[in-house]
Amino acid sequence: MNIFNKDPRQIKILIDNGHGCNTPGKRSPDGRFREYAWNRYIAKCIVADCTDLGYDAELLVTEEYDVCLTARCHRVNSWCERLGKRNVLCVSIHVNAAGNGDRWYSATGWSAYTCKGQTTSDKLADCLYRQAELWLPGRRLRTERTDGDQDMEENFTILKKTSCAAVLTENEFMDCEESLRFIESEEGKEAIIGLHVDGILDFIDPTRQFGYMDLKTHRR
Ligand SMILES: [Zn+2]
Repeated sequence: MNIFNKDPRQIKILIDNGHGCNTPGKRSPDGRFREYAWNRYIAKCIVADCTDLGYDAELLVTEEYDVCLTARCHRVNSWCERLGKRNVLCVSIHVNAAGNGDRWYSATGWSAYTCKGQTTSDKLADCLYRQAELWLPGRRLRTERTDGDQDMEENFTILKKTSCAAVLTENEFMDCEESLRFIESEEGKEAIIGLHVDGILDFIDPTRQFGYMDLKTHRR
């Protein structure tokens, strides 16, 4: 059993892909990489893989255009009202930036954010960090140890205004050429998807038999 003390297959996994095709900025300095498109691809794969493994996952935003944060939080909270907030979780997928798209920078790394204070979100973040260590060997994990755990803490709207466990991940940097090469490679995309799928499932179903690699092996 898990901390929810219920069937993990009844827990609603919501994947948010942040931003839309009309969001200004949010691209690499050369304009080639668009965060909204990459986020959407990764979010779609995480949902498909969790579903194939038998869990109840869905995209929070199916639209291509930007759905404002208030509306996204409202969608999450409607699920919480319907199913109970302990039966819902939300992970928001993003790519970090060191600047505002003006030039290339050298900052790299993966990080996950929760809102301030200790909640079940911190347990979800712990599971994601543990999987990030396995899936991103040799790459930097950005952590903040002030409150005893690894995750970074920031009162982002999607974390603060949602009532269930919620984590926002920043998957490398869109204004670092090395980061971009990694997250745009097949190997990089697979690692990012794998760490989210296994991290989420570690949280809701720690004694499960199968994970992301089983799915990949089965598909080959
Ligand atoms: Zn973003």
